[in-house]
Amino acid sequence: MNQQSNFSASWSLTTACNYKCKYCYRYTSGKLSSYEEAKGITDKLYSWGCRKLSLAGGEPMLWHSKAEVIDLIRYLKLKGIKTELITNGSYLTTSDLDNFKDVLDILTIDIDTLNNAEQVLLGRPVSHLSHALSLHHYARKSGMKIKLNTVVTSINLVSIREMCEFVKKNGYYRWKIYQYMPVVEFTEKDDSLTVSDDDFEDLRKYVEDQLNGSEVQLVIENNDQMHNSYMNITPDGIIHTNKIENKRIIKIEIGRVMDMNFKNFTANEFVDLVKFYKYHSVTEERRESCFA
Ligand code: SF4
Repeated sequence: MNQQSNFSASWSLTTACNYKCKYCYRYTSGKLSSYEEAKGITDKLYSWGCRKLSLAGGEPMLWHSKAEVIDLIRYLKLKGIKTELITNGSYLTTSDLDNFKDVLDILTIDIDTLNNAEQVLLGRPVSHLSHALSLHHYARKSGMKIKLNTVVTSINLVSIREMCEFVKKNGYYRWKIYQYMPVVEFTEKDDSLTVSDDDFEDLRKYVEDQLNGSEVQLVIENNDQMHNSYMNITPDGIIHTNKIENKRIIKIEIGRVMDMNFKNFTANEFVDLVKFYKYHSVTEERRESCFA
């Protein structure tokens, strides 16, 4: 298998979530795969060259049980697939982190702002920020790699600038910043959260300047970079990519992992292979640093 065929993908283990973030982009349908079905899906992804899998949701800790989430991550590790858990953290305790620390490669608990009033406006519970920060603190002391995901909306556009110093000082491994875009299936999504391309690029420049020379891996994705480049998988194992039309994300169904081969994915008219490998290739070097 050549180097270029190694890639990362994202799997939404469940559509269920206990939060109501206004910018949510999760899938709204798809029955849970059983643990055995999940192993079959990941075996197939591995055979295609998947070497990093982000387990997301909804809230992934609502998939069957905590023990099965950990078992699946352990299974992936033994197979040679790096894992990232993208969680809101609300179901995690510090003793859960003790169980994750030897099997999970990257723990991602999103923070969009350090301002509690803003996070409530974004639809997150008032307890989110302090709980997420305490988990970050504990995980960091345990030697885990912590990644931050931040969605840029009109609400937190300014205060994200204040996060730069915080991110630098607190040993985050990676900071991924996305430009908000409404998803078509959420028709009630609020267009007033949108930030203009110019405002987003100004923010990009500011954050890049502030983090220049720091050890934090910075990834900043505008709407164009999200277009036709992802391999996203629903709970029941159906691959999608994203298309952007009229400033809204449209999820394009490609096919069921278990019923297709990798060529069906790469040949799909909505998959831009150059972008896919540019943003989602996992070379050995990147794999070592979990960068993908
Ligand atoms: S925590 Fe994630 S899945 Fe849940 S509502 Fe917020 S963005 Fe959506």
